[in-house]
Amino acid sequence: MDSPPVKRVIVAGGGTAGWIAATALVRHLGKIIDVTLIESDDIGTVGVGEATIPTSRTFHSFLGLDEREFMAAAQASFKLGIQFENWQRPGKDYFHSFGQIGKSTWMSDFHHFWLYARKQGSGGDLSDYCLELQAAKAGRFETGVQGKAELSYAYHLDAMRYARYLRSVAEQEGAVRIEGKIEQVLQHGETGHVTGLKLQSGELVEGDLFIDCTGFRALLIEGALNSGFEDWSHYLPANSAVAVQTQSSRDPVPYTRAIAHESGWRWQIPLQHRTGNGFVYASSFLEDDAAIALLTRAVEGEMITDPRIIRFTTGMRKTAWNKNVIAMGLSSGFVEPLESTSIHLFKTAVTRLIQLFPFGGVTSALTDRYNQVFRAEMESVRDFIIAHYHVTQRTEALWEYCRNMAIPDSLMHRLSLFEQQGHAFQGSDDLFRVDSWVQVLMGQGIMPQNHHPVAALMPPGRLEEAMMNVGQGIKMAVGQMPAHGAFLKQYAPAPLP
Ligand SMILES: Cc1cc2nc3c(=O)[nH]c(=O)nc-3n(C[C@H](O)[C@H](O)[C@H](O)COP(=O)(O)OP(=O)(O)OC[C@H]3O[C@@H](n4cnc5c(N)ncnc54)[C@H](O)[C@@H]3O)c2cc1C
Repeated sequence: MDSPPVKRVIVAGGGTAGWIAATALVRHLGKIIDVTLIESDDIGTVGVGEATIPTSRTFHSFLGLDEREFMAAAQASFKLGIQFENWQRPGKDYFHSFGQIGKSTWMSDFHHFWLYARKQGSGGDLSDYCLELQAAKAGRFETGVQGKAELSYAYHLDAMRYARYLRSVAEQEGAVRIEGKIEQVLQHGETGHVTGLKLQSGELVEGDLFIDCTGFRALLIEGALNSGFEDWSHYLPANSAVAVQTQSSRDPVPYTRAIAHESGWRWQIPLQHRTGNGFVYASSFLEDDAAIALLTRAVEGEMITDPRIIRFTTGMRKTAWNKNVIAMGLSSGFVEPLESTSIHLFKTAVTRLIQLFPFGGVTSALTDRYNQVFRAEMESVRDFIIAHYHVTQRTEALWEYCRNMAIPDSLMHRLSLFEQQGHAFQGSDDLFRVDSWVQVLMGQGIMPQNHHPVAALMPPGRLEEAMMNVGQGIKMAVGQMPAHGAFLKQYAPAPLP
């Protein structure tokens, strides 16, 4: 046994990560542990992080949150995927939806049949076979209708309101919040384990296990424990973002927009009461003033906040769980926001912590297991994001760099397999499914040279007929859905801010 039993858990930081961790811990383990969260209103939160992926829904049901209540509280809208504009080359767009494409068999994924049909001069567009994608393009949405297929969806949410909502849930369940600035991290003289946090007020908050959710500051995991950071900037050179909020000029669309520019990309996240906008860039390729000018010129609607620059380094903490400190959220690492994966990663982190919780004390077997899975998850997200930058025909300096840079072997293998044989796969620690890889790789411009030969074994005419049926079924289903804005207004209307 490396440390004493754990009863008092201290969460340092109250951004989205801190309140997610506190809510999950108190809701599931609140009968056997005490949860205290320290945050400083003076320091505030990063204030971005407003697009999610469908795993949010599973996590919310794990917390027992009511969807309508949460959506109204966070001014949330529905998200069916991301529209990538100008990524392959200017003027060429594609969609990464959360849905499945067509119907796969155990032997071969649907896109192999589509590739074969395409060779025969039929098959249309791959996007014709995805319900979520067609619903997003048409701006339509519905959920919870009995007898109808459920769309795979996520949310756009207001980060500040989301954290506030989670705080109310956590406090109702018994989590204790302390307002104050952490000034000193106290450690055990021999083991180096953290024993307490000293606040500016002089108060000492002692605990057995500490969750570091202090954002990029990483006060405990790095400031006190020097856990080390693996820098991935050579793969993902973007290190800055400028963010601004605008008034909504129309009903929200059910998807995020990610628009590539000469030296970065711009996000547009539509909420019920406003739109979140940002521009992500590498400071070695673009100056801050030029980034601000680009964003403020491009946004739609009146700006309701001043443009704000945020710096980051893409990479991961070498040991996210070190001694009795576990880093979650931005303190554990960050792979830039292109596929909205950060919130997901700390939701899986707290789930994993609950599964491996060190009731009897922290042991290296527990920390090793936790850190192994953390690394696998981070690397798999990293590879997916790199693919968007690397597989491109854009020719400006940033894109030229990304196209020619060395990429991880794991990604190189994936790209060759897809390019040569058309195979995509989802490994056990991979977040993104085959459908995601197929949409993004084809969308970025890789058309596989071959397909699985099984696709050619269908009797003549059968394949065309089967594909036509799938496509027509989707068209009909989308035609019957209400507009996203209208659905939202009756399903989870948020009060005017
Ligand atoms: C440009 C950008 C865009 C992003 N977009 C997305 C997205 O679309 N989807 C997504 O999933 N993620 C996104 N993310 C990531 C997302 O913003 C974060 O994962 C999420 O907000 C969680 O942040 P956090 O809670 O770890 O840190 P923060 O929000 O920074 O919170 C840190 C907390 O620690 C407290 N704190 C710090 N120091 C002290 C101290 N000394 N004493 C007391 N308290 C202290 C602060 O007060 C605050 O409460 C984005 C990130 C960036 C940078």
